[in-house]
Amino acid sequence: MSNDQVEWTGGCFCGALRYRVTTEPQLKAQCHCRACTHISGGGVNTFMLIPPGGFAWEVGEPARFQHPESQRAVERFFCATCGTHILTQRGGLEGVVLKVGTLDAPEVFGGPSIAIFCEEGQAWHNVPEGVAAFERSPPG
Ligand SMILES: [Zn+2]
Ligand SMILES: [Zn+2]
Repeated sequence: MSNDQVEWTGGCFCGALRYRVTTEPQLKAQCHCRACTHISGGGVNTFMLIPPGGFAWEVGEPARFQHPESQRAVERFFCATCGTHILTQRGGLEGVVLKVGTLDAPEVFGGPSIAIFCEEGQAWHNVPEGVAAFERSPPG
């Protein structure tokens, strides 16, 4: 299933950054960790993992940020004009972690299959019924 072709587009809120996704995501999830809660504005971070080669920037050059003090710091790619955070990349992981709200048609996401880092979540965070919840990363 991971080689299925898709044709999804998206971008930041102001339109300075545009991207294209051409490969079915490997993973659909929501993350409750403190960093995701902080950056999302208070909610969970809803994302999908796009395999290597399945994501390409089409318009604009994203700004980048990596927290200097966080142990599991990822590199964050965002729009320098409007601030929309579009994706993260982690050392050792070749794919990109794409925030589904930046898709032109977020409904293609269809919902997460797992919830991760629930032990850091807030009381108002919800895990949809039928979605497997993990205290931290899923085993394996
Ligand atoms: Zn923008
Ligand atoms: Zn997180």
